Amino acid sequence: MGTIIKTVKQYSYELDDDILQELKFIANQYKNVKNYVYSRYSGINSIPLLGKERQIRDEWTKIKFYEQWKLPARYWKLALTEAMGNIKSQWSNIKNEIKEKVKVNENLSNKDKHYINYIVKFNSYYHKVLNHIGFDIPKIFKNKNLNFKYLNNLIRRYTRKYKGHIPYSKVGKTFSIDTGLYSYKNDCINITSTKKGKRLSVELTDNNKYDRTMIVKIIDNRIVINCPLKIKTRKNKDTNIIGIDKGYRYLFAVSSNNFYGEGLNNILSKETERLNKVNSQRNRFWALYSQYLDQGNVKKAKTIKENNLGKVKYNHNKQKHDQIVKSYINYSLNQLIKEEKPTEIVMEQLDFVNWNDKYPKSIKRKLSRWIKGYIRERLEFKCDFYSIKYTYINPAYTSKICSFCGSFGKRDGDVFTCPKCGETHADTNASKNILNRKYDNDITLYTNYKKVKDILENRLKVS
Ligand SMILES: [Zn+2]
Repeated sequence: MGTIIKTVKQYSYELDDDILQELKFIANQYKNVKNYVYSRYSGINSIPLLGKERQIRDEWTKIKFYEQWKLPARYWKLALTEAMGNIKSQWSNIKNEIKEKVKVNENLSNKDKHYINYIVKFNSYYHKVLNHIGFDIPKIFKNKNLNFKYLNNLIRRYTRKYKGHIPYSKVGKTFSIDTGLYSYKNDCINITSTKKGKRLSVELTDNNKYDRTMIVKIIDNRIVINCPLKIKTRKNKDTNIIGIDKGYRYLFAVSSNNFYGEGLNNILSKETERLNKVNSQRNRFWALYSQYLDQGNVKKAKTIKENNLGKVKYNHNKQKHDQIVKSYINYSLNQLIKEEKPTEIVMEQLDFVNWNDKYPKSIKRKLSRWIKGYIRERLEFKCDFYSIKYTYINPAYTSKICSFCGSFGKRDGDVFTCPKCGETHADTNASKNILNRKYDNDITLYTNYKKVKDILENRLKVS
């Protein structure tokens, strides 16, 4: 059994202005602490301080450096720890990059590589090399006749190359809260404020209660709380590898000849229809509104605006629709997994670029970007959850060749016509090609479109 992290979200209702201002103040100061830490401790001089937040904390406390943040201690300590954690992971990324580059550098002997990896591994040495501080060569490299000057230079050069800038945030709209900074009561979460003993009571749309460090995001005049939960995953045994394709009429076509998510298009069409109606209605009211204004009838204009042009109902309906789409996608994915019982799912690189040439405009418009992103996110999540492996393949020509004989054919709607084999279902054909591509040793994820075509054409000549 493995574990994965799932982020669950809690939403507040619209907040009173004083509470909102206070939360914004905390978020802004939180950001200032982090930015200060980045500017002060992300340089090569500060390597010895990595993992020693406590030392910095004690120092700040001793000289009352923290006073400037005007935040309760738990907040600035959390911000400090978070920023130091980010700096630390930036350094370990740099180290990994260096290791990768060293591995493939043909000018280096194995001994050279060993030396560089050793220095980079130990911060005490790494720090000295970067800062040109002299040190005794570690025992295991003495009498090894290495060009230390050259190797140390190389370490510095690689480090410069991979040391990107830590992203400073300009706007502070988020901050973390640990269990000491909040508690739940009834439908509210009470968050520690900057005033001693006073907590900010924020009403939530659900009454779930969590007990871990969470992230508060301020969005307009509400907050969204992100809570990372650890979830245990189940183990799978038998092998069943399937290819899936995002279908023309369905959410997914599977290489087993099955389809899932037949109803999605219908849901999307209905919503498009509804939106068109609502929008034309609203347009009429806007016209009426400006007509009254022109006539100098401000009172009537105002009534129209308040009663017929409000955003609340409009947004509410949109949210309701989005929720329906989401549950339908989840339902379809669950069905797919339940029916197919896959141990591995092979799919196109899910950037959905090639949805473009597969779909008529009317459908493409309906599949807005968030839906595509959502499908990907849920698919990956469910695969992780059920310990299903997922593999991406190069999608070039998977909808344009016949999955039986490899001939180039024609696609018209959901019918694919092979000049040799005749008609098949276009999406099923594509899903089979996708599955085959997994075992194709000539076409990798990175083989370009033109090259793929050459390879496929050559195979036809040979056979
Ligand atoms: Zn064929």
